[in-house]
Amino acid sequence: MNKNIPFLSLSRTNAPLSRELREAALRVIDSGWYLHGPQTRQLESHLAELTGRNHAIGVSNGLDAIRLIFRALIELGRLSAGDGVLVPANTYIASILPITEFGLVPVLLEPDPDTFGINWEQALTLFETSQSKQSADKAGEATKIKALLTVHLYGNPSWDTDIAARLQRQGVIIIEDNAQAIGASISGIPTGGLGDAAAFSFYPTKNVGALGDAGAVTTDDTALEKTIRALANYGSDRRYHNIYRGYNCRIDEMQAAFLNVKLTHLNEITRSRQEAANAYLDKIANPAVALPAILPRAVQVWHQFPIRTPYRDALRTYLSENGIATDIHYAVPPHRQPCYENTFSGRYPLTEQMADTLISLPISDITPAQAEYIAGVINSFRPTLKK
Ligand SMILES: *Cc1c(COP(=O)(O)O)cnc(C)c1O
Repeated sequence: MNKNIPFLSLSRTNAPLSRELREAALRVIDSGWYLHGPQTRQLESHLAELTGRNHAIGVSNGLDAIRLIFRALIELGRLSAGDGVLVPANTYIASILPITEFGLVPVLLEPDPDTFGINWEQALTLFETSQSKQSADKAGEATKIKALLTVHLYGNPSWDTDIAARLQRQGVIIIEDNAQAIGASISGIPTGGLGDAAAFSFYPTKNVGALGDAGAVTTDDTALEKTIRALANYGSDRRYHNIYRGYNCRIDEMQAAFLNVKLTHLNEITRSRQEAANAYLDKIANPAVALPAILPRAVQVWHQFPIRTPYRDALRTYLSENGIATDIHYAVPPHRQPCYENTFSGRYPLTEQMADTLISLPISDITPAQAEYIAGVINSFRPTLKK
């Protein structure tokens, strides 16, 4: 067993599929069809089937997938500038950028410290408070909450069936950021098929990664689908007829073809991560380290395997001395980024605690034997021995 373990190696990830990927590339090259062709249509039907949705739209990347959903909701008159959008504080910044881009107001939610998903009770309370008149005067709470963006962070579904249904009955639009959780599910329902619309990313490091940028949107809502398709194609609903001031957010046939290859291996990709994660969960036993939790009835696809420890720097150094590379997702939360200086007035102590204590262990292409070896190294870590 190789005891020098990189955090991630995309050449190692893609090597087993090299022949299939090359054949797919050749088919696209020879077809002469590079955009809006059969590979994109096949990807879209694959994703619609996977999520049980009526529509899937291949787009340029995950950030654009989220942007297109919000812009389409605005064009359809369902959201407008000034509306509040509940969103986790401990997410990757790409979840928040599209909210502020359109003048919507992000209302940050603290995480459940064990699952890293949103605190749904807090979401409900913030929504109910935002509906009542008195709060409309209080600074920072003047916004009426109209939408919620849940993020299935690290591949762990963040969903509360009862609270989500209550919010939706009261008109809250629920969007999923499913960039990290393709293949996950809760109570048998796949992520990307839970809310009103969902965004996918196929960034090369994601569980299903393109060899470049790609993304997708899934939804059952035909008006939303049509609006997103138009917006992604210069705002054009038919040739040389532009109903929106749109974008170019197309996916290309080459990336779609690579993804069609990868999606036929989704079960193996997921199983490999789950086997490594199960080995970690079974074998890591060190009082200085907290392990991640999964909601009941959830299938977690382990985009990351995050542990928490107050001795983060010492443990990372110790692992590194033993040939084990780690990473941090995410060291600086969005509300602490320079681009959001003076934007958020709230305090987010749990989010900051996460940012200060998380370590992501290698999870991509890790064998259970390697995970057991890493667990053994973690178990031999004694914080008191390290100053
Ligand atoms: C990767 C990611 C995105 C953005 O996807 P891109 O394809 O890189 O634009 C959005 N949200 C989350 C949670 C992500 O992990």
